[in-house]
Amino acid sequence: MTGPQALADAFTGAFRRDPDGVWHAPGRVNLIGEHTDYNDGLVLPFALGLGVSVAAARRDDGVVEVRSRQAAAAVTAPVDGGPVVSEGWPPDRAWAAYPVGVARVLREHGTGGASLLIDSDLPQGAGLSSSAALECATALALCDLHGVQIDRPELARLAQRAENEQVGVPCGLMDQAASLLCTAGHALMLDCRSGLSAQMPFAPADSGMTLLVVDTRAAHALAGGEYARRRAECEEAASLLGVAALRDVKDLGGALGTLRDPVLRRRVQHVVTENHRVEATIGLLRAGAVPELGAMLSASHLSLRDQFEVSWPEADTAVGAALGAGARGGRMVGGGFGGSVIILTPTDRSDGVRDAVAAAYAERGWEPPEFHEAVPSDGARRVTP
Ligand code: ADP
Ligand code: MG
Repeated sequence: MTGPQALADAFTGAFRRDPDGVWHAPGRVNLIGEHTDYNDGLVLPFALGLGVSVAAARRDDGVVEVRSRQAAAAVTAPVDGGPVVSEGWPPDRAWAAYPVGVARVLREHGTGGASLLIDSDLPQGAGLSSSAALECATALALCDLHGVQIDRPELARLAQRAENEQVGVPCGLMDQAASLLCTAGHALMLDCRSGLSAQMPFAPADSGMTLLVVDTRAAHALAGGEYARRRAECEEAASLLGVAALRDVKDLGGALGTLRDPVLRRRVQHVVTENHRVEATIGLLRAGAVPELGAMLSASHLSLRDQFEVSWPEADTAVGAALGAGARGGRMVGGGFGGSVIILTPTDRSDGVRDAVAAAYAERGWEPPEFHEAVPSDGARRVTP
């Protein structure tokens, strides 16, 4: 990704006019709390240094024109319109459903058209939430360009609505909330039932620790169907247990005794213990006990692998190799069946951990994984006046 000035210059070249500004929104990693969001539970994401930038200029003709340096097709669409997902856009234009969808949702709140040029250094589809970064950068730009003020928690809900209704992806609120609400040096505790959030101090470098994000280079082929199945299983278990959501299970032993189906028992065990792990992690963050987070991450991984059954071979291999090389802990992140892994390691062992993961991949003949250091960063913002 180029810097803001280079993006502004590229905008001028593409649209034959200067942009009114450049905005940036980060991707995120969820430290812990996986598959808890749709069970009304807790999540703990933080914003990455990587993200999506957008150079934009206001238009008053009711049109959004979007281009991306990561996509070949430029798309022009009216701001007025029904859900993009119902318009049957061809695959090469599908990416534009995110920014156009945001423009259509925000239209109801007083924004209008714009020309947008997008650039990103976030891998797409790696579980680092490039989709929410794209939505949130677009949303901030549109609000600023049209002088519309929407507070950030509400803007997160509107961006989520765009992904749900316009793109047709049934995601929760976490990604958009993380991209808009996170602050540097913190993770964001988000209660997915109330929507309330709080900043928790998280600065691994202050404790001599490094958090690595490993893009495992495994595509989530099964992801959609399996994700829907897990959601349905959790709903079924909640209804059998007579609770509104699995978050409300207070007596795990009792619940496991009530459920006959071993699959549902495993799902409930994961969700309930994962919520406890988020709470324990919050306690560790408050105490500044960063190295001790490793045990929580590894426990989460085992639970996702064995109880929720959503891990994949590359993730298990990466976590195993990292632990063998002295990492304090690690886990798969995201919905499962592909995407990324996070690894918490003492900084002085970070190179050795990377080498060990790369070697384990090479041994199996897999394409090398990609490593990023995750530094808890600021949320979405305007980067040029
Ligand atoms: P994730 O959010 O984990 O990266 P998603 O499947 O939710 O994965 O979103 C990825 C999609 O978002 C891409 O397939 C593409 O349509 C869109 N997208 C993300 N970043 C860009 C970009 N820089 N340019 C164009 N489209 C993008
Ligand atoms: Mg996404």
